[in-house]
Amino acid sequence: ESTLRRTWSEILLDNLAHNYYVLKERIGTDVKFLGVVKADAYGHGAILVSRLLQELGCDYLAVSSLDEAVELRVNDITLPILILGHTPKDEVEHLIKYNITQAVTCKAKAVEYSEEAVKCGGTLKVHIKVDTGMSRLGYLCDGDFFDTGVDGILEAIQMPGLETEGIFTHFAVSDEPGEDCKAYTEHQFKLFTDVIKAVEEKWGHSFAIRHCANTGAVARYPETYLDMVRPGLLLYGYGDFAKELGLRPAMALKTNVSTIKTYPAGTAISYGGIYTTDKTTRIGVLPYGYADGFFRALSNRCSLMTVDGPAEVRGKICMDMCMIDLTDKPHVDVGSEVEVFGESNSINELAALAGTIPYELTCAVSKRVPRKYI
Ligand code: PLP
Repeated sequence: ESTLRRTWSEILLDNLAHNYYVLKERIGTDVKFLGVVKADAYGHGAILVSRLLQELGCDYLAVSSLDEAVELRVNDITLPILILGHTPKDEVEHLIKYNITQAVTCKAKAVEYSEEAVKCGGTLKVHIKVDTGMSRLGYLCDGDFFDTGVDGILEAIQMPGLETEGIFTHFAVSDEPGEDCKAYTEHQFKLFTDVIKAVEEKWGHSFAIRHCANTGAVARYPETYLDMVRPGLLLYGYGDFAKELGLRPAMALKTNVSTIKTYPAGTAISYGGIYTTDKTTRIGVLPYGYADGFFRALSNRCSLMTVDGPAEVRGKICMDMCMIDLTDKPHVDVGSEVEVFGESNSINELAALAGTIPYELTCAVSKRVPRKYI
């Protein structure tokens, strides 16, 4: 692990624990908590985040693929783990071996999983995914598809080798403002509960775990909590809802000033010369560029936090470096710390400037940026 470039991300485990407790308090003791730790826990490091969640009493984890699940299993994570995406059929034996729960999203996958589970003499635990309007994965059940969707789900439940523990759906716009989005989410939720009711009536059993609430729904639609909630972003403390709920960012991305030079007026800074100094200007170079996860689209368009306040990024962001204006920053010297985002520089604002969402910024922090768990 190299820290020579002096750019690092701090994973603030106390903030993560704080967020977990606040959310747990919000959902109440009867609702289970699934922590979404896919994509290396949104860039925070899945192993350590999962270990913390396990210690805190979290009930379930979710990842996107088998390799993410196995990484957790071989690192002492014993919590139930749900794979939200697909697993190739020749890997079903590993799902069973590592006791991993698989999402079943359509008939073709159900058949494959069932056949493979029977072949290796085991039982695969599954959660049925219902597509209520996200139009991505899941049994399509809206409108004319209701009856075929319900029958398809029943068929999967009754296939040999599969043990159905849960059923879930995913909201498309629960985090978006406006009455249309509220109505869309309410429609998705009603459809989901209608499907559950229809399946349970024909099946004669109840699903043990029904879940649908992602970040937007945990923040805004308590009626959707059912048996378990499934937040990602909120747990990590980003976005407007996190702010409203008093949650704290779980990551701070920091770098330091590696060199400083003072240029006369009329000097073009960095590739392409998109910024030219208009006076004598003190420029600091940071060992932080797009290969670390910075967005080149933010060139000349954002500021980073120093001890003397926000310093503007000047010129094009390079692969390994970027430049900031330190002209009116007398306390910033070589070696001074600069926060890209974290507790003093909001990731929400940086993401908005880049025309994206905080998820993309934390996921983009690259492998060469060491994570320090504090
Ligand atoms: N559930 C599913 C199926 C997801 O794909 C995701 C994330 O994309 C989540 C839950 C968590 O979403 P969020 O981070 O918005 O809470």
